[in-house]
Amino acid sequence: MEDWMEKQIWSIVRIMDGSGNILELDEFNTQYNTDCSIETYKKVTQNIQSALIQLIKNNLLNITIPRLHKIKIDYVDLVNEKCNNKFLRQYLVNTLYPGRTRSTLILRDFDKSEISTIRTKFLKFPVPPKYKEIHFKTINNIYPSNKFIRKRFKFEVENCHNCSTNVETTEHLFHECETVQNLWRSLHNLLSSKSINMDFLSCQNIQMGVILKNKENEFLVNNLIIVTKYYIHKCRFAKSSPSWSALKNEILLFQRCLKKIDNAQAKKLYALIVTLQLS
Ligand SMILES: [Zn+2]
Repeated sequence: MEDWMEKQIWSIVRIMDGSGNILELDEFNTQYNTDCSIETYKKVTQNIQSALIQLIKNNLLNITIPRLHKIKIDYVDLVNEKCNNKFLRQYLVNTLYPGRTRSTLILRDFDKSEISTIRTKFLKFPVPPKYKEIHFKTINNIYPSNKFIRKRFKFEVENCHNCSTNVETTEHLFHECETVQNLWRSLHNLLSSKSINMDFLSCQNIQMGVILKNKENEFLVNNLIIVTKYYIHKCRFAKSSPSWSALKNEILLFQRCLKKIDNAQAKKLYALIVTLQLS
């Protein structure tokens, strides 16, 4: 028996095969390199209760290899080559920002050259970068209006600060709100009185700018749209109500700044704004 202990034969399982059957003597002797007698072997094996043998057999036959569930992202296996960085990034963006807008959809009413004009022309305008930033955000429908913030970040937000009755969407803030409509109407009347004929500024015009046959007029009107939008944006942060007289002062201030800029575009815009005779 000491020999058995040395050879680690201390459990019934050690004298069984993989299916739970007791080894034949010669198999046992070969496996453990021993020469156990038939009498000794029988003495041991015959004293093992059959119920215990059955129990071990059942255990050996029912061993299941644990299987982990496949990890999938958006129905794609994590180890699949399709699940690359680009795919993961897109998935995260779609999950974290479900209300993302596609700028290609916003510009679907324009042809290719118009889209290029809308997207690039204003970049050379002699207006401060902050003004251009607001214009850029409205063109791409990413201006952080209250509705936009609620949709993207699920924040609780207030209604429009001007009328308090409407949800503050970008369209409402820059175009639809009554006080803002008055601004655009006054600006439109001013331009009409200087023979700059154009349709009343629509929501789309305000969002993207206008495309006119007369390029000088187009340049003036688009700059004024940008200045006005920046003014509306400023009023929103100051929680003040926009007014035509205050906007005229903003334009006059801007006109004085343009006078000091030694740049062809600034000179051109200055000359055009002077013709409006705001003061
Ligand atoms: Zn409002």
